[in-house]
Amino acid sequence: MSIHSINPATGETIHSFPVLQNHAIESILKSAATAQFHWKALDFNQRSAYFNKLAQILRQSRDKYAHLITEEMGKLLKEARSEVEKCALACEYYAEHAAAFLADEPIVSDAGRSYVSYQPLGVVFCIMPWNFPFWQVLRAAAPAMMAGNTVVLKHASNVPRCSLALEAIFREADFPENTFRSVLITSAQVEQVIASEHIAAVTLTGSKTAGRKVAAVAGHHLKKCVLELGGSDPFVILADADITFTAKQAVIGRFQNMGQSCIAAKRFIIVETIADEFISSFKDLVSQLRYGDPKNDATDIAPMARTDLRADLHKQVKRSLSMGAKLIAGGTFMQTQGAYYVPTILDQVRPGMPAFDEEMFGPVAAFVRARDVEDAVALANQTQFGLGASIWTQNITQGETAANEIQAGCTFINGIVKSDPRLPFGGIKHSGFGRELSYHGIREFVNVKTTWIK
Ligand code: NAP
Repeated sequence: MSIHSINPATGETIHSFPVLQNHAIESILKSAATAQFHWKALDFNQRSAYFNKLAQILRQSRDKYAHLITEEMGKLLKEARSEVEKCALACEYYAEHAAAFLADEPIVSDAGRSYVSYQPLGVVFCIMPWNFPFWQVLRAAAPAMMAGNTVVLKHASNVPRCSLALEAIFREADFPENTFRSVLITSAQVEQVIASEHIAAVTLTGSKTAGRKVAAVAGHHLKKCVLELGGSDPFVILADADITFTAKQAVIGRFQNMGQSCIAAKRFIIVETIADEFISSFKDLVSQLRYGDPKNDATDIAPMARTDLRADLHKQVKRSLSMGAKLIAGGTFMQTQGAYYVPTILDQVRPGMPAFDEEMFGPVAAFVRARDVEDAVALANQTQFGLGASIWTQNITQGETAANEIQAGCTFINGIVKSDPRLPFGGIKHSGFGRELSYHGIREFVNVKTTWIK
């Protein structure tokens, strides 16, 4: 069996890699466990030095890695450059703050002295998606490793070159051998890895289907697991929103990364009184987006990552239309080679339609009309997901009140949902459990250990 790297802009197969045999996997896991024994013995300053060097390499070779990302999963080169820079930031952030985040905490109790310390768990198995092929990996690996764990990565099958490049960057930064390993395996081999005695914990970023499977296996083996799953984030536009500003942000929130982001704005819930005007402005802006070569900085519309994902998205659009949604723009493949999909706008979307109930992982904006703010919040919450949400209004008090009612891991007022190393990131409901980033993220894969001394 092979894993293929295919350029989504051209359909060309760039490289094929053999899948790792089962016996070879176990020996890598064992090496990662042995490496962890030495890695955890380093102090924070030593581990920080490695991560600062990693950040430096990412910055120095930003364009090389950005090209690789674009060639392998299709995103705009300018977005890929930002992704690499953000990875460097996350590495530096944990290099600077890990020691403080994991410092011993004295606690007053009936002991002469008692305290909590944070000790690493062992080898963390990271199962990652293709949509931000560098960022997702480093936002999980940097805190886990700064805490003293080592990492084994199973990346998505369409980004094997990114997976290998990440391992090579750790090597170039002179990390001790086997502290970060990438394994080119299929999802069918994941169970074997989780079951291994060398694996202490698992983190998955991906779909809820994969999350369910991985959590069940981790549960069976009684291993800690963090799940960062899909979302159908509401973008709630209240009657007093600044239409020009909000429409521009809405286009970015939906179409960046070709809509293939867990925290993309997916359901535009808009108060009826301004819906026609807003949708008209939004449509004008979308009509100005230019498709083309993702490596060209003038291009706005890149291909989706794979043709099968485009086909799935198109089916969701067609099913929503057959149930009464109204097509305002797009709704079709682009007549060119590569996995391009015409930016699509649906109006009159309602609960029960795929565009409302399911995650639309691509360039499709679904407009849902609400009577008023209460109805908008109720619609925002009428979903199985709970990742992010944004609210757009000139009345911040009203915005905060609505934000407090929304069931999500984060709510943004007058800003598009984004991740930031300083702020915790994660979801509730079918968007998963556990948190990444901030001090919350680094405390996921540690033993919160109590010491009590008479
Ligand atoms: P995916 O199909 O679930 O794949 C994610 C990872 O899980 C890949 O490495 C995949 O390997 C593996 N996998 C898939 N099925 C599996 C199974 N049954 N058992 C074990 N492993 C399995 O998701 P994707 O298409 O790559 O990414 C898109 C999804 O990720 C969206 O739902 C998106 O919202 C979500 N996401 C969430 C976040 C977040 O932070 N919450 C961030 C980014 C993306 P193969 O490629 O080999 O199948």
